[in-house]
Amino acid sequence: MMESKLSRRVAVEPGIWHEPDDGKVQLIGMRCPNCGEITFPKTSRCLYCQNEEVEEYLLKNEGTVTAASVVTRPPAKHYRGPVPFAIGFVELEDELRVWTPLASSDPEVFKSGMEVELVLQDLYQNDEGDTVVGFAFTPKEEALR
Ligand SMILES: [Zn+2]
Repeated sequence: MMESKLSRRVAVEPGIWHEPDDGKVQLIGMRCPNCGEITFPKTSRCLYCQNEEVEEYLLKNEGTVTAASVVTRPPAKHYRGPVPFAIGFVELEDELRVWTPLASSDPEVFKSGMEVELVLQDLYQNDEGDTVVGFAFTPKEEALR
């Protein structure tokens, strides 16, 4: 996380992603050494074989949209993020499908088959003046800007 005297960036929920100082952000999943299944978010036991000796696994940060829709009203009373926004399924390279926010200047842009990349997006200012950030997948050409 970036730190400054004026304002901090805080995660909307801790332990969801890994943000290295010199690389791209990755979601933290779980891999089962017994059956090889990978899940996200992380769980304390394997959902497939019930093995409890699971390990953290950093997911690939690129994938393909398989379904998307646009949410035009706040999804919950206390929701403070942007509206409208897109949400959908992204299939990560050879791993698994995740249900995820989709970020773009145009929420209508997401179509099945579009290649996307994981980013962190500023959601809102909290009462302490910190910027709350969450993860989302964005079209690759927008991630390069
Ligand atoms: Zn397993």
